[in-house]
This record gives sequence, C-alpha cells and structure tokens, in this order.
Amino acid sequence: MSRTMHAAVVEKFREPLVLKELPIPTPAAGQILVKTEACGVCHTDLHAARGDWPLKPTLPFTPGHEGIGIVAALGAGVTAVKEGDRVGVPWLFSACGHCEYCLAAREPVCPSAQFGGYTVNGGFAEYIIADPSYVAHIPAHLEPHAAAPLICAGITSYKGIKETQARPGEWIVISGIGGLGHLGVQYAIAMGLQVCAVDVDEGKLAHAKRLGASATVNAKTGDPITAVQKITGGGGHGVLITAPSLGAFKQGVGMTRKWGTCVLVGLPPGDFPTPLFDVVANCISIRGSFVGSRGDMAEALAFAAGGKVKADIELQPLSAINAVFERLEHGDVPSRVVLDFAKH
Ligand code: NAD
Ligand code: ZN
Ligand code: ZN
Repeated sequence: MSRTMHAAVVEKFREPLVLKELPIPTPAAGQILVKTEACGVCHTDLHAARGDWPLKPTLPFTPGHEGIGIVAALGAGVTAVKEGDRVGVPWLFSACGHCEYCLAAREPVCPSAQFGGYTVNGGFAEYIIADPSYVAHIPAHLEPHAAAPLICAGITSYKGIKETQARPGEWIVISGIGGLGHLGVQYAIAMGLQVCAVDVDEGKLAHAKRLGASATVNAKTGDPITAVQKITGGGGHGVLITAPSLGAFKQGVGMTRKWGTCVLVGLPPGDFPTPLFDVVANCISIRGSFVGSRGDMAEALAFAAGGKVKADIELQPLSAINAVFERLEHGDVPSRVVLDFAKH
C-alpha cells in the first residue's frame, strides 16, 4: 500500500479545489480506514466549498459525503465492521449516542454530531476515516457507484417524503429534480404516492416523466402555484422542496394543500418570506428535514436493493471535480455525478 493518496481539498472558499497528494490517515482507536471506490457529488459540497452557511467548515478540508468503499484497516477496539466490508461514509459522520435526540433516533440533530466532508474530511479522497457505528452498510448486490448517491441524496429525499406524512394515493409535489429529486420521484412512487414534479429545466422534467411522475410543472413559465393547484386539485398533500433556490421555497408553501405539509430540504443561503395568513388559515405545516437516522439509511438502501429505486449516475475522475462543480452550479448535471476512483 502506498503511503500517500490523492484528495481534492478546499483551501479557500469560492476558489477551485486543489488536487493534493496527502499522507494516508491512520485510524485512531474506534475508527476505521475506508479505501474509496466511489463518491457522489452533492450540491451540499458546493455550498461547503463556497462557505455558504452560517456554520462554516474549518479550512482546509476535503468535501464529500457520498463515499463508498472497502474497509481497509481497523483502529483498536473496532468490532462493528471487519476488513473487506463495503460501507458508505455519510454526512452524519458520528453522533454522541446518548443525548435526547440520539435516544429518539434523531441523531442528525445531535449537538455533538460531526459531518462528513464538512466538520471532518470526506470522500473526495482515495481513503476516508470513518466511525464504524455510523457508516452505511451497503447491501451485497448494490454496485458501489450506484450506491453512492443513495447515502445522501437517497436518504434525504426518502426521509423528507416520510416527513410529509402523505399517504398512498395522495399527491406529493417535488420541487427540484436534480440529485435529490430524481431519487425522490422514485421513492415517492414506490411508496404509492402520485408525483407532480417541478423544476426550471425541461430536461429534468422530461426525466421525471420517464421515472413515472404523473405531472410536471416548469416553475419558469407561467404561475407554477396555480398550475400545481390545478393538477393536484388543491395542492400537494405533501410538498418536498429540494431546489437550491429561495424562490422555490415560497412557491412550495403556496403549492401545499390545506392541512398539508411542506418539507424543506434544499439549503440555499438566506431566508424566504412566509405568507403567514395562508399558513395559519389553511393549517399548513412547514418543517425542515436533515438527512435521516441510521434506520432511515437502511430503509433507503433496501428500496434500491429491491430494485425499486436506481440512481442515474455519470462517472467522472476525481481530477474533474472543479469542472463538475461548475456544471452543478449552473444546473448542468442531469442527475448525479459520481467520482470513480478507478479512473484517473
Ligand atoms: P442539484 O443541483 O443536483 O439539483 C437541484 C435541482 O433544482 C436542479 O434540477 C435544478 O434545475 C432545480 N432547481 C433550481 N432552481 C429551481 C427552482 N426555482 N424551482 C424548481 N427547481 C429548481 O442539487 P442536489 O444535490 O439535489 O441538492 C439540492 C439541495 O438540497 C442543496 O441545497 C443541498 O445542499 C440540499 N441538501 C440538503 C440535505 C438535507 O439533509 N436537508 C441533504 C442533501 C442536500
Ligand atoms: Zn448531500
Ligand atoms: Zn447525541
């Protein structure tokens, strides 16, 4: 085993990532070392590299929280996984395990949570340090590149749909049909919901149709709230906003049916105005949703292992990361780019 690895590092916010040769880290007691096979590129990685959010990562850092790989070494005392296992190193890198949120399987909001590719180095590197208690266990016949998007885009859209509490036969509106949304459409259909897909790009909407969406609305043309209200006969019982655009949030509340729930998962920096009277008088719930628990992860992966959900992926080498970020920023990635660590 060589002693160095390639990694794409954010050295300054809003500047291209720097491809570096770094020492392969050694797992401390309780940690594992994962040899990366694949890592999806999430829009969150772009927010991280731009320093978009109030809580900023400490520079320099290696982004990536959809890393899939093989356990290559164990730190002292590790029993939860063994060498050779295929695992995913997700956004929820670790949590305390004993606070009120951890006890309630709400570990993403643990005050001591660490986030992969954000507060600790992530998967844009040939090796990743991970906490074996929080890795995703990749089902045997899921191929690593196809599994990568599931451990963030998949779990987040799946959990977000659950949080809408929409029931089989009801309407869900999914706004933003990119990495998260194209999986959300598939989860929603597998859960028996009718999907109305909203995006600003005709190509993304055509893709939603191919995936089984019952209706599509282009938010750039006409009044998308009226269009959704008409299609769904009064708004979505559930609405899931994945779009990294503030305009989509205000529209999402307007697309929600009376007594419906609008779940926010997209994270563009900033705030959006809430139509207070409409929310109160229509008894609308607005709730945030942040990835999911380890139980949600296992469920999200099981849908894919059962053939009900499949990520559409484009493979690129790690060295292409800056070009991929550029495309992601401009909405030019069809669904999800996955970095392929066999490519150079
Ligand atoms: P993406 O770039 O792959 O997809 C975004 C999609 O939104 C694109 O299809 C784009 O065309 C569409 N879009 C842009 N503006 C729109 C608008 N006004 N209305 C409707 N659609 C619009 O991004 P992604 O990787 O799917 O991530 C989406 C967002 O979700 C990001 O902000 C990311 O940080 C966030 N995210 C949140 C969580 C969480 O736990 N809450 C997890 C992962 C990602
Ligand atoms: Zn993500
Ligand atoms: Zn905790």
